[in-house]
Amino acid sequence: MKTAASLIVFFCVLFSGSECFSDAASAVSPAVSRPNIVLVVFDSLRADHLGCYGYHRPTSPAIDSFAASAVRFAFACASSSWTQPSVMSLFTSLPPELHGRTSPSSKHDPDAPALASELSALGYETVAITANPMLHRRYGYSKGFRHYDDYSVFMDVGSASDKAARKSAMDPVVTRLASAKIKNRDSSKPLFMLVFYMDPHWDYLPRPPYDADFGAAGYPAPSILSLSGKPAAAALSDRVVRAYDAEIRGSDDAFASLLEVIDSSLGSNRTAVVLCADHGESFWEHRNFTAHGNDLYDEELHVPLIIRPPAGVPFVPGSVVSGQAALVDVAPTLVAIAGGTPPASWAGRSLLASFVSGTADPVPVILDTSASGRHRRGVRDGNWKLIADSPFDSPSEVYNLASDPDETNNLFADGAPLPSGAASLVPFLKPGGAEIRASAKENMP
Ligand SMILES: [Zn+2]
Repeated sequence: MKTAASLIVFFCVLFSGSECFSDAASAVSPAVSRPNIVLVVFDSLRADHLGCYGYHRPTSPAIDSFAASAVRFAFACASSSWTQPSVMSLFTSLPPELHGRTSPSSKHDPDAPALASELSALGYETVAITANPMLHRRYGYSKGFRHYDDYSVFMDVGSASDKAARKSAMDPVVTRLASAKIKNRDSSKPLFMLVFYMDPHWDYLPRPPYDADFGAAGYPAPSILSLSGKPAAAALSDRVVRAYDAEIRGSDDAFASLLEVIDSSLGSNRTAVVLCADHGESFWEHRNFTAHGNDLYDEELHVPLIIRPPAGVPFVPGSVVSGQAALVDVAPTLVAIAGGTPPASWAGRSLLASFVSGTADPVPVILDTSASGRHRRGVRDGNWKLIADSPFDSPSEVYNLASDPDETNNLFADGAPLPSGAASLVPFLKPGGAEIRASAKENMP
């Protein structure tokens, strides 16, 4: 398998004349010549509720426009269906079993190389603004960040009159704090910034004026607990989805404002911008309402992934990469863009080659969630999804994603042989399977 670094060098030769952030270049260039990197994460944002992913409501004009200038991955897979394990996988390029942050009380691996620490070692100023209390530094997410701001958002909105007002205030505050950090950065260093928005996470309480979008104004805004476990009375599910979509519309405007500051202050040609989500959201597709975290179906795992590389990294603006990418691929991709070499222990691979080829080989992604107290493990490649329950020696659900993308026809039957493509994924489900997958990286396409 070609390494990311060798591919970049290859591209430098191919595109000689353009600036390239390669290993070779970084060996002779000061850190300041490296591109800025801004990683924007929206909590609970389903890919298929964005216009550029084919959604029928105009939820995302700014994100759609951004995608037209960038590379969009048709299918990017989160490692888990809720924040803590998924974001730690995003940061460490490891499946949850290996990084260990599977709940607030679990033990994570403090020695696992993290994206921010790798970029810091390359000379980056590392800054994070986050609006999700599950990403508090006590859980290990601040590794490598010189400035990890997990409190200012809450200080700022704390005086708002009620829960709805506090939640509504969060995205604008995140944008304001991130913009200030960008404008007041240490310009002697390249900047790596994580911007983590809380919306469109439940409760679905779009702030004005978005609360009037898509008919969401008629939504009575009950607490999420009043929906939990309830079946989809059609009218209620429709109103909930409209309110969720209205929150996305507000998030889209927040992204538009942030991108304007990124481009005017950092320079679009000098800055890699990545937009993704930590997981998706379920709306009665497989069971009564649970929002996210309880299952491993695609509505909770299919996240947007849109990358606008800096000048010098070859890509086709507006292109769509087919195949299966994953959030564990983001860290190696960004380290490669920075001109570094991703740690060998990382399970993900750089996606740089797919910027030009238009395809990402669907290597298996290990899935894991235990947010509801029911531990479920899974594995997904481009063709099959297997889900297992303890003790994980056999799948309890098997889906052929090509013929059954909605995962409604469980092919598992006790005692019956699995189709060969599915059977080859069974070892990844078992304890230690994540390690097998990580160590097999070099042998995968
Ligand atoms: Zn989340």
